[in-house]
Amino acid sequence: MNTTTTASNDGGKKEERKQSGTYEAGCHCGYIKFSVTLSPPFPVYKVLNCNCSVCSHLGYLLVYPKAKDVAWHNNSRERCASYRFNTKQKDQMFCPKCGASLGIDFESVFKEHTYGINARTFYGLNLDELEYKKGDGVNKVPPAGDLSGHVWDEDAQELK
Ligand SMILES: [Zn+2]
Repeated sequence: MNTTTTASNDGGKKEERKQSGTYEAGCHCGYIKFSVTLSPPFPVYKVLNCNCSVCSHLGYLLVYPKAKDVAWHNNSRERCASYRFNTKQKDQMFCPKCGASLGIDFESVFKEHTYGINARTFYGLNLDELEYKKGDGVNKVPPAGDLSGHVWDEDAQELK
């Protein structure tokens, strides 16, 4: 991890404060690699542990960097496979080689292009040392509800 550190003067008391951290991340096989800069860095940056059906089924523990703070290596964004459901506005991104669950592309949803990146993809990161905030997406993020197990149309043989 690389961190940028600045000294701030706080009431005459000098204090070192890390303002951001840049982390290398990617899928399990290495086909997809990227780096993510978070402000503030872990563990001050809190990871969203949400109970919605997609977060639980895709194993998401999300952080939300702006697109400018995500650097895709080796054309990795274009390498991602994606899954869309319900409103079909955002890509749930996966590695097509190893299946690792990478996160969400909110390009068409938020005014400023933002990603939800799965903290599980960060290399060498101890998830037990992170701070989490609970998300209640299953009740609070419309038009959610629990869609798990009901997106595939067995008769049409396609995603609804
Ligand atoms: Zn992979």
